[in-house]
Amino acid sequence: MSLADRYSELRACGRVHERQLFPPRRDPGELELQARWFAGDFGKQFRSVCGKEIEVVQFGTWNREAGPDFQNTAIRIEGGEVLRGSVEFDLSDRSWETHGHATNPSFEDTVLHVFVHASEHAFFTRTPAHRNVLQVRVDPRALPESFAANVPLARPGRCQAPLHGLPEERVRGVLDGAAEFRLQRKTARLRRMLEMHGRDETLFQELAAALGYKQNKLPFTLLAQRLPLATLRPQGEETEALLFGGAGFLEAPDLSVYAGETRTYVRTLWDRWWPHRDSMQRLVLPAALWRLGGARPLNHPQRRLGALAAVAGDWSGFIHSLGEKPAAAGAVRKFLLGIRHPFWEQHYTLTSARAPQQMAMIGASRVAEILANVVLPFLAARGVEVWPAYAELPAQLTNRRLETAVTRLFGGDPRRRQFVRSVAHQQGLLQIYEDFCLQDGSDCAHCPFPEQMQRWS
Ligand code: SF4
Repeated sequence: MSLADRYSELRACGRVHERQLFPPRRDPGELELQARWFAGDFGKQFRSVCGKEIEVVQFGTWNREAGPDFQNTAIRIEGGEVLRGSVEFDLSDRSWETHGHATNPSFEDTVLHVFVHASEHAFFTRTPAHRNVLQVRVDPRALPESFAANVPLARPGRCQAPLHGLPEERVRGVLDGAAEFRLQRKTARLRRMLEMHGRDETLFQELAAALGYKQNKLPFTLLAQRLPLATLRPQGEETEALLFGGAGFLEAPDLSVYAGETRTYVRTLWDRWWPHRDSMQRLVLPAALWRLGGARPLNHPQRRLGALAAVAGDWSGFIHSLGEKPAAAGAVRKFLLGIRHPFWEQHYTLTSARAPQQMAMIGASRVAEILANVVLPFLAARGVEVWPAYAELPAQLTNRRLETAVTRLFGGDPRRRQFVRSVAHQQGLLQIYEDFCLQDGSDCAHCPFPEQMQRWS
């Protein structure tokens, strides 16, 4: 039995079916849920409200015109013929009526109405021509992980005493098992995305999400979904302008607010964005979606978008570096660390002054994250054995969620730093934290993890 299988068993028999101690603090918004629908997080197989089996064969594209959210989609009903059309995703079934879709001809080709909340009384989705549209209700609580982390305050848990006395190899064994399990889950997710969106779009969306960091994962994902490579690549040098325009960063036409070289750069972006602006207006992200404060200036989303544009501009170089073998990690690292951009190497934001020195477009720690969360799971999804390369990735940084997990499990154990020196062990620790600490409703008292650990050999 593999370590991942053993961890899966430990996790299953230790499942605590009690109230969560740290319940999710927020409801995901409509845009986030739409992004997760498109990413396939809700799955592909559904049962309609009227009991029919629905398979989403093709998730289509984000609609940039008036009409349903996704167009060119394809579904199969009860295993029959493929039905093509559009999909509308709303928070409530009633939104179909209250948003005026029922009388809007643009919604006539809708084949599926997806929503989260159902009204008390049965509600039928009807098109302007009085065609009944199948309804699917989805449950965001069933999503495997959320876009945003839920970080409780840290304090040592009941684990610290038993873990303190355990030999190092046993602790490492459990962390390896949990990390392998996590990698398998990421791989399965990537495999689903590959089936739905193909290699290039999957990688582009995942890369964008990784460059968004935790704070801006959603807008970056939406941007890559709404402006897929298939749209961007034929645009050549206009790619960057489309990304900045689509992000909503080119909304102020007054160039006098920009200084010297920035004005020249923004003017170029503007001139290239302008011809597309009207046709893409509906896809422009709302400003409220961005979290521009709180991150290090180096990680400002505008710089990250510059990096994404640079990778999109040399997509074949990125794909070439990827190869199909574990050694790709080295080649991809070299490629990403070598990304250049004449403006963004010297600027933090569109309004900041020129930085005193040149800055890397993507730093070593972000590259390590991309390798662990995108590149190696992608290769694994293509059947490449990646565990040895994954296990060797050195951890560059820690974060608050990880620190919380370390404190919960290891308390003041002097070895605690050693256990999070590799990306794999960090990921394993996060998996345990999510599977046990965040599921526990007994303040550790009934959590089975410490006893399970004792039995791990
Ligand atoms: S909840 Fe469980 S895994 Fe987390 S610290 Fe407490 S005993 Fe350990």
